[in-house]
Amino acid sequence: MTMSAGMHGVSFRQVSKSYGAVRALRPLDLEIEPGEFLTLLGPSGSGKTTLLNIAAGFLDPDGGQVVIGSRDVTALPPRARNVGMVFQNYALFPHLDVFENVAYGLRVRRVADAELRARVDTALGLVQLGDFGARAINQLSGGQQQRVALARAMVIEPDLLLMDEPLGALDRQLRKHVQLEIRRLHNEKPRTTIYVTHDQEEALVMSDRVAIMRDGRIEQIGTPHELYDRPRNAYSASFLGESNLLPVHIDEVRDDRASFTVDGPEALRSQSQGDDLPGPGPALLLARPEAVRPAADGEPGLEAVVEETVYLGELVATRLRMSTGQTVWMRRMNAPPHEVGARIRITWDPAKARLLPEKKPS
Ligand code: ADP
Ligand code: MG
Repeated sequence: MTMSAGMHGVSFRQVSKSYGAVRALRPLDLEIEPGEFLTLLGPSGSGKTTLLNIAAGFLDPDGGQVVIGSRDVTALPPRARNVGMVFQNYALFPHLDVFENVAYGLRVRRVADAELRARVDTALGLVQLGDFGARAINQLSGGQQQRVALARAMVIEPDLLLMDEPLGALDRQLRKHVQLEIRRLHNEKPRTTIYVTHDQEEALVMSDRVAIMRDGRIEQIGTPHELYDRPRNAYSASFLGESNLLPVHIDEVRDDRASFTVDGPEALRSQSQGDDLPGPGPALLLARPEAVRPAADGEPGLEAVVEETVYLGELVATRLRMSTGQTVWMRRMNAPPHEVGARIRITWDPAKARLLPEKKPS
C-alpha cells in the first residue's frame, strides 16, 4: 500500500537557480518531515517563490534534486507531481462558479461525477463555504476567494501543499482569521505544507518549523521557539521577534563562559554563558525587550533616558535612548511606568540574553 496523501517527506538536495547574474537560490538543502507545516520566512527577493515554483514544477532548477516521498520529481511536469498550490492573488477562474473552480483539478484528473461532487462538497465544507457552490467568483469577498483557492488546492489530496503569501492581499483582521483557519485545517488533517510569508507573526502562529531565508540561502531553520531563543546571528534575531542589539567587546572566552564589555562611555562588564559563543573581539549582545530591566540601587547599569511609554494591557513597553544614542526597548509586566524624560539605569537578565557574532559567518 502507498502512504496516504499529504504524509510524504520532501527533500531539496543542492537545488540551485540563477537568472542571469542573479543567484536566486544558492545550492540549497532542505528536509521537510511528513505532515509538517514548514514556513519560509524572508524578505522580498530572498528566493522563496523560486523554491516553491521549483517544488511545483513550474520552474526547472539549474542543478539539484527535488524528492517527494521516495519519488524524484525533478524532471516531472507539474501535473505529474500531485502538488497543490495557492497563490497570493487567488488565481481563480472568473468565468467558473465556486463549485467548478474547486472541481477543476478533479475534472482534469477525470474523476467520476459522483466522487467529484462528494469531494468538492467536503472541500468546500472544510473551508466553511458549503453553501457557496453556485456563487460567481466576483460575488465573494477577498477572504472567501482565498478559501476557495485553498479548497481547490486541497481537493486533489496533494502530497505536498504549497502556499505563496496566500494572505498578502487580505486586510489584517481577515488575515488573522484565515491564518487560524488554515492552521486548524492542518491540525485536523496534517499534510506536508510549505508556506511562504514575510510576516514574522504569521510564521510564528502557523508553523511547526520556520526556515529563515536570506539571499537564496536558508540562514537558520528551527521551531519558532528555537529561533526566538537561539538565533544564530543578528539577521535571525531581527527577523523573529523584537531585538535590542548592543555592540560589545568579548574580552575572554573560557569553556562555556564569555566575559565582555558593553561599548560606550560606561564600559559595563558582564558575563554570558552558552555552548556556541563567538570568539574574543567585537560582538553583539541580544537582549529581547522582556530581558531588559531597571538596575537596582548600587547595581551596575547603563544610563538611559525614557523617551516613550506604551501601555499594552498588563505590559508596559518603554523606549529608551542610551548615552551612545542607540534606542533600546524594555517590556515589563505590571511595572510602574517611568516618566518620559526620566534618567534611569538599565541592565538585563543574563539568562535571557545572548552573545551573537558581529557579522554573519560566511
Ligand atoms: P521572493 O519570493 O523571496 O521575493 P523570488 O524567488 O521571487 O524571491 O526572487 C529571488 C531573486 O530572483 C530576486 O532577486 C528576483 O529579482 C530574481 N528573480 C525571480 N524571478 C525572476 C525572473 N523571472 N527573471 C529574473 N530574475 C528573477
Ligand atoms: Mg515571492
